Amino acid sequence: MFNWLFTWLESRVPSFPTELPDKPTPSVWGFIRYYSRPFLPLIVAGLTLSVVIAVIEVRLFAFVGSLVDTLTGADRATFWADNKGALLFYGALALLIQPLLSALTDAIENQGLRGNYAMRIRWMAHRYMLRQSMEFFHNEFACRIATKVMQAALGVRDVVMKLTQVISYVVVYLITAITSFSIYDPRLGIPLLVWLVLYAITMRYFVPRLGKLSEKQADMRSVVTGRIVDTYTNMPTVKLFAHASREDDYAREGMSWMLQSVYDSMRASTMMNLVLNLINGLLLTSTAALATWLWYTNAITVGAIAFSVGLIYRMLGMAHWMLWEIAGLFEDFGVVKDGVDVVAREHAVKDKPGAKPLAVTQGKITISDLHFNYGKPVSDEREVISGLTLTIKPGEKVGLVGRSGAGKSTIANLLLRFYDVGAGHIDIDGQNIADVTQESLRAAIGVVTQDTSLLHRSVRDNIRYGRPDSSQAEIEAAADKAHASEFIANLTDPNGRKGYDAHVGERGVKLSGGQRQRVAIARVLLKNAPILILDEATSALDSEVEAAIQENLNALMEGKTVIAVAHRLSTIAAMDRLVVMDKGRIVEEGTHAELLKRKKGIYASLWARQSGGFLIPEDIKAAEAAE
Ligand code: ATP
Repeated sequence: MFNWLFTWLESRVPSFPTELPDKPTPSVWGFIRYYSRPFLPLIVAGLTLSVVIAVIEVRLFAFVGSLVDTLTGADRATFWADNKGALLFYGALALLIQPLLSALTDAIENQGLRGNYAMRIRWMAHRYMLRQSMEFFHNEFACRIATKVMQAALGVRDVVMKLTQVISYVVVYLITAITSFSIYDPRLGIPLLVWLVLYAITMRYFVPRLGKLSEKQADMRSVVTGRIVDTYTNMPTVKLFAHASREDDYAREGMSWMLQSVYDSMRASTMMNLVLNLINGLLLTSTAALATWLWYTNAITVGAIAFSVGLIYRMLGMAHWMLWEIAGLFEDFGVVKDGVDVVAREHAVKDKPGAKPLAVTQGKITISDLHFNYGKPVSDEREVISGLTLTIKPGEKVGLVGRSGAGKSTIANLLLRFYDVGAGHIDIDGQNIADVTQESLRAAIGVVTQDTSLLHRSVRDNIRYGRPDSSQAEIEAAADKAHASEFIANLTDPNGRKGYDAHVGERGVKLSGGQRQRVAIARVLLKNAPILILDEATSALDSEVEAAIQENLNALMEGKTVIAVAHRLSTIAAMDRLVVMDKGRIVEEGTHAELLKRKKGIYASLWARQSGGFLIPEDIKAAEAAE
C-alpha cells in the first residue's frame, strides 16, 4: 500500500522531461515559477494538508481547555457518559486522523517534492547549460557553473517548501489564537499582539542582515572553492615553479575571508536568539500572569488559562523554528538569485527560429569580409579578424599559416560557430552558417586540435564519441588507422579495466599528449565528416608516429575540404594552398613553392627559420619550378 503511494507520488511529475528547456525567466520569482509550475498540484495539496493539521492542533489545545473546565465541575459518576462523544472524537483526532494526515503530508513532501523537484530543475538547467556558447564556458569557471546548477535547484525547492510551511502555520496559528482568545476575553490577546510587533521588529532587523551575511558567506565559499580548484587544475604549473607556499597563502587569504564571514553571521545569529528568547519569555510570563489575573477577576475559566498558556507555549516553540525558516528563506532566495545570474543567462549563440539543418553537397567554404573581436566592437582597430575574405573550393586542402595570435584558431572557431561573427558571413555550400542549426553544422565538421582533452570515460567511449552507433570493429579500425591500437591494448586503469575499457582520467591526463591526439584522430576518422579542421592536429606526435599517421590522415582528407593550422610548416607544406595570416588579415596566398619565392614574405621567413636559416635545395628547386 505504502509502496504504491510512494511510487504514485514519485511519478507525478516526470523527472527528466524530453523536450528541450527554454531560457528560464531571469528574475528570482520568474525563475522559481518557471521550474515550479509542474509541481503546483503537489504544493497546493501539501499546503492544504498543513493547514488542516494546524487547525486540528489548535482544536486539540482548545479541547484541553474545555476538558479542564468540564473536569472542574464534573461528577465522576456521570463524566464518561456525559462526555463520551467528545472524548472519543478528540481521541480519534489525536490518535488517528492527525498522524495519518501528517504521514500524507510527509509523503507529499518527501516522495513527491523533495527528490524530484530539485533533480528535474538540475536536469533542465544542465541541458540548458550544455547549449550555452563557448564564450560562456571561457568566461565562467566550470566548477562555478556546476555549483550554481546544483545549488539553485535546491534553492528553488527550499524557497517554495519553506514558504508553504511557514505560511500555513503562521496563518492558522495566529488567526485561531487571536480569535479564540477574543472569544474568552479580548484582553487575553494583548500580550500576543505586543509580542507580534516585537517579533516583527526582530525579524525586520535580523533577517535581512542574516540574508546579506549568508550571501557574503556563499560568495566567500565560492571564492575559496574557485581558488582551490584553480590550484588543483594547474598543478603542473604550481609544481614546476615550486610555488606551493605561495598557493598556501593564496588559499589561506580566501579561507580567512570566508572564516570572517562565518564569524559575522554566527554573531548575528547568537544575538538574534538572545533577543528572541527575551521576547518569548516576556510573552509566556505576561500571558500566564494576565490569564491568572483574569481568572482572579472571574473573567475567564481555568480551562481558558490551560488553553491560552498551552497554545502560547506551542507558538513559542514554533517562533524559533519560524525565524530560522524565514532566515533560511532569505538564504535560499540568495542562492536562487545567485543561480539565476548563471543558469538563466541568454544563449550567446542561438539557432534562428526555423533554422534548417546544413546540407553539405560539395563542401565549399566561403568567408566574406569577416570581422570579429571576441565580444569587443568590431570597429576597434585591433580586431582579431579584420575583413578577411577567403573561398575554399570543394575538396581543397588549405593550410593556415601565421605567427602566434594571427587569428588562425579564431577562424576555426568561427567556422564551427562557437562565436557569432561581428560582421560579414561564412557560407558552406551557399548556406550561411548562422542560418543553419548548430548541431548540423558541427556534425559536418571533424576537428582535431592541439589541446585535445578527453572525457573521463573509457577509451572506447571517447573514440565512439565520433559516431555513437559505431561497432567495436569500426572503433578498432579507426584506432588502428590512428596508430592508437597498440598503446590502447596495453592500457590498464587503477580499477583494473584494460584496453578499450580503461578510463583515461580527468581530461585524459593519464595518456600522453601524443596518445590523446591519436585517440582524437581515431574519433574524427570514425566521424568521417565532409569538412575537416586540423588545428595543430599532430603537434604532440613524434616525427615517427606522425609520418606513420600521415598516410591515414591523407586518406582521411581524401575528398574532403580541409583547413589545417600548423606551426610546424613541414606538416602542411604539401597542402593545395597556403594562406598566410597576420593580424587577422590574409597577407599571402599560394602554394608552398609560390610563397617561398617571395623572399621577404612572412612564409618564406618562417620557413627559413624552421629549416635552420637556410633554404634547403628542394625548396630552391620548388621555388624555381614555380616561377
Ligand atoms: P596560435 O598560433 O598561437 O594558436 P592563432 O593564430 O591561432 O595563434 P588565435 O588563437 O586565433 O591565434 O588568437 C587571435 C587573437 O585572439 C589573440 O590575440 C588572442 O589573444 C585572442 N583570443 C583568442 N581567444 C580569445 C578569447 N576566448 N577571448 C578573447 N580573446 C581571444
